[in-house]
Amino acid sequence: MHTLQELEKLIAYHNDLYWKKAAPEISDVEYDELMRQLEALAPDHPLLSAVHGAAVASTGKVRHKEPMLSLDKAYSLEKVLEWADKYVRSGDEMLLVQPKYDGISARWEDGLLVTRGDGAEGEDITDKVPLIELESVENHVGRLQKNQPIRGEIVIRDDDFRTIYKNIKRKNGDVYKNSRNAVAGIMGLKEIADIQAQGAKLTLVDYRKISYAYSRRDLPEYFDELLEKISNLPYPTDGVVIKIADEAYANSLGNTAHHPRGAIAFKFTNIRRQSVLRKVVWSFGKNCLTPVAEIDPVEIGGVTITHATLHNLQNVLDRDLQINDIIEVERAGDVIPYIVNSLPGENRRSVLIEKCPCCQSKLEQRGPELCCVNKECFEVRLQNLLAAVKNIGIERLGEPTLRKMMNTLNVRSLRDIFELKILDIMRLESFQTKSAENLFNEIAKARNVSDYQVLAALNIPHVGINVAKVILKNLPLSELRTAGEETLSNIPGVGPERAKAIKKELTDQSEFIDELLEAVVLNESQGGDADLPTVCFTGKMPEKRSYYEDLAKQKGFQPVDSVSKELSLLVANDITAGSSKLAKAAKLGVKIMALAEFLQLEKAESEPSAATVPAAEAEAKNPAVTDELPLFAEEAQPEVPEKSPDNKPEQLSFGF
Ligand SMILES: [Zn+2]
Repeated sequence: MHTLQELEKLIAYHNDLYWKKAAPEISDVEYDELMRQLEALAPDHPLLSAVHGAAVASTGKVRHKEPMLSLDKAYSLEKVLEWADKYVRSGDEMLLVQPKYDGISARWEDGLLVTRGDGAEGEDITDKVPLIELESVENHVGRLQKNQPIRGEIVIRDDDFRTIYKNIKRKNGDVYKNSRNAVAGIMGLKEIADIQAQGAKLTLVDYRKISYAYSRRDLPEYFDELLEKISNLPYPTDGVVIKIADEAYANSLGNTAHHPRGAIAFKFTNIRRQSVLRKVVWSFGKNCLTPVAEIDPVEIGGVTITHATLHNLQNVLDRDLQINDIIEVERAGDVIPYIVNSLPGENRRSVLIEKCPCCQSKLEQRGPELCCVNKECFEVRLQNLLAAVKNIGIERLGEPTLRKMMNTLNVRSLRDIFELKILDIMRLESFQTKSAENLFNEIAKARNVSDYQVLAALNIPHVGINVAKVILKNLPLSELRTAGEETLSNIPGVGPERAKAIKKELTDQSEFIDELLEAVVLNESQGGDADLPTVCFTGKMPEKRSYYEDLAKQKGFQPVDSVSKELSLLVANDITAGSSKLAKAAKLGVKIMALAEFLQLEKAESEPSAATVPAAEAEAKNPAVTDELPLFAEEAQPEVPEKSPDNKPEQLSFGF
């Protein structure tokens, strides 16, 4: 909890970043949390009632006849109902649910187009009217009419963004990254002639155009369905607005210091839903078992969620999760859903297992992981070989095919794979001449290897491709094999613990290395110009920052705190969120990656196939082309319809 002074400072700081510099450092959820804290300490604080406007190129200020206030926000249906129950007069009270558009709110009146601005006074953007097409309540699409006042949101339709905007160039020659940026960018233009000549088009959607009416009694039952409908509309939306349908009554409720009482916004971002934990599947990763939760299906932002990641054994123990527990699951953007909270359910059963599902030997906890320590375990061998295959650079040989190779052809090592003939591969189930040839060529191509790939293929803990490069930059492979622990531990980024592991594996796997070296053509790159690549994390993440920094270290990255042009990679949960780090990285040309992608990269290079569920779906139809494992394949994004839903909503007239 912050003190009042800290909150004032923080909020002013973040307001400035968001509204003036368009480079926020925190998510909307975090910002709203600060505002809630402030409200708790000082309900009448002027910062609470301050309404801000995006920077637009304006031709002057216009005072609103009635203030355009922003809405109070809720992040769960529970909170929405709490709000509703404060104001509805009975269960029959009608509520309207409308899309919360992600654009710039504006009003059109007396031939002037004006932004919301600070709520009392907006910016005159009438000069942008030539770009704007109106979508009115009557589903009429066309130009703004002088005698037709509108309150609505200026957006770019999703279909327009996909078609028109892929060809529209900004002054610097780039295309717009997303429609929200494009709207803000165009609104900031002093001169629209150039963008108009390129065919740019904006849409002003009347707030009343899409409106679903439900009684307070019925709302909970239809809420999920509504969210799905609205998130599938062809407009950028970031939530829904729920308002009391009786306009006169809603107006009579008046305003709090900064919000009208008669309406509330429900945000899509980081939506949490309750469900029940039904099962935990322990799936094999490299040397360890990864728990994946199977939960009662819940809809989040229009997507059906049936699985959530549980990361590792320690996470399950820390949360004391058991079967039948009531859980709260969260999904942020396209990141794999995760469990944020849990309550003990009825008839609880342990989710833990004691024996390896494959070889039945007793499992052990190693660090945070649950591991099968039987080196002869089929799944352990499979995962180790899969990791070696990736590190040696056989890109298209995935788990299902490797499994078949081990079962049918008794393949045990990389050398065995390099010695396969086309006829051998054709013996594998579902392989034809062509697909066998393709895979054979893929393997042959990978025979030219760099020394660091050989080192990484040994599956030494925490020695992936990147660490291997650094090691070989300091010591050629031949010398490395005979080097003592002390020499090894003096290599930057290695240290005594890794040195010990490296020494042990080089000795244990000596025969394997000899065999492998006979089967490949070695390119003594000596690690090239490798230094440990650096990674910086930004924004809110599902787990503690240190969790990801540890993962990054295992992956051979060096975590750092700031963005500079030397930074190798910036990782954000939501790369479209907009933060000063993201903006800076983009400016400096630093590679930016979504957290979900980073986690998979981690898995692809050093811990393949962790958290892959369900295994049956992983069997690819055409193994020689791609047999990589899909993550949560059943949770693909729904198709976005081009048009509004057919079941035309009941439309009731109600102002903003
Ligand atoms: Zn086992």
